[in-house]
Amino acid sequence: MTQLLPQNLLRENPARLPEVAEIDVVRHFTRLSQLNYCVDTNFYPLGSCTMKYNPKVNEDATRLDGFTKVHPYQPVEQCQGVLELLYHLEQMLKDISGMCAFTLQPAAGAHGELTGMLIIRAFMDNKGEKRNTIVIPDSAHGTNPASAALCGYAVESIKSNAGGLVDTEKLKASFTRDTAAIMITNPNTLGLFEKDILEICKIAHDAGGLVYCDGANMNALLGIARPGDMGVDILHLNLHKTFSTPHGGGGPGAGPIGVTDELKRFLPAPRIEIEQGKYTLQYNYPDSIGRVRAFYGHVGMMIRAYTYLLSLGKEGVQRAGEFAVLNANYLRHKLKGHYDIPYGTTCMHEFVISAKKQKKMGVSALDIAKKLLDYGYHAPTIYFPLIVEEALMIEPTETESRETLDAFVAAMLQIAADVEQRPESFRGLPQATPIGRPDEVKAAREPKLKWEFK
Ligand SMILES: *Cc1c(COP(=O)(O)O)cnc(C)c1O
Repeated sequence: MTQLLPQNLLRENPARLPEVAEIDVVRHFTRLSQLNYCVDTNFYPLGSCTMKYNPKVNEDATRLDGFTKVHPYQPVEQCQGVLELLYHLEQMLKDISGMCAFTLQPAAGAHGELTGMLIIRAFMDNKGEKRNTIVIPDSAHGTNPASAALCGYAVESIKSNAGGLVDTEKLKASFTRDTAAIMITNPNTLGLFEKDILEICKIAHDAGGLVYCDGANMNALLGIARPGDMGVDILHLNLHKTFSTPHGGGGPGAGPIGVTDELKRFLPAPRIEIEQGKYTLQYNYPDSIGRVRAFYGHVGMMIRAYTYLLSLGKEGVQRAGEFAVLNANYLRHKLKGHYDIPYGTTCMHEFVISAKKQKKMGVSALDIAKKLLDYGYHAPTIYFPLIVEEALMIEPTETESRETLDAFVAAMLQIAADVEQRPESFRGLPQATPIGRPDEVKAAREPKLKWEFK
């Protein structure tokens, strides 16, 4: 080998590769794999992220040769199977959401939002209207204003009412002829159903605007209610949340968006259509905003979602929604005497507690989250939504058993008692994890990703 390579490319000193036996390698990687917390390890009540258990059959289906060995550059005649799956997944999502047409291209929820904003812009341009603002409730996920701003819109935040819902009077006053759309999340990030959604849509439509719905919380509505029936114009779904593909740690996701009949012509192309009994890719959409992703998006996620939906069936999907709501209310009920829950009396798929009371005794939401790590749980989402002081946002999902929920409740009640009796015990936590309290800003700005051999 060394004779084949030019001298200047050769190493001067041999690489310092570790020389170890197979068993040491196996132990090393097995140990590493166990440092990574995942839903297969334990309960993962990370609010808004819907960390449900992902059935392994989804993985098996995705790894079938027919899917892994197909290439997007192959002629469509040779890809009929995968196109059929994608086409049918679009039909199922239409059925579940009540929207008229879907694109599967966007790579994540935030990307779906951006695609939606581009469609709103194209729609308004097409009508010859210049509208510069998007109205967004103050409880929204941070990606909402970011997506609107990335698309060149000014964002107007509207303050939620005392019940944690969109204030329709404020919305009426804010939604002017300069407003292109409202971005609304339903159920919202407090886990509350926006019960005035029909009126909210009417306010937007009467002013000539559109309604974008962030459907990341669709888990709560599955088989029960459909945003399309409520008057929503554009909706994104997170396949990796609601439709059970593994996520977290920056792995791939998929954020399909559904639109009304009126907006269909603006969807990204190509679109999958049936022509003479064959699946085709249709590029002839002159008003399309264009591609938003290479090829057809993250097809692996779509195969998982399709498998998940088929294996549950229509009834199973509805039961998933019902159990998601039941599990959240069960936890909410068990925790309510011990923690302050500022909004609502019942919830949808999640709820937000405030550790305001505990903070007064010197223990913050962050401290409680760290303590939960020592109990072996993933922490809930903390300090979001921004309108709740010392927020802990808990979403159990439908896949957890009563035993798991009870064990989590026991941990939370123990924590509440410890805060009162020995608040000093929360200092220096967590102790059970390999890393305690990293400097989160530094970890994001200066990540150390290189392995240094000693
Ligand atoms: C997760 C989430 C998003 C963003 O979705 P990504 O797939 O992470 O980009 C947007 N809104 C809400 C309410 C979410 O929970």
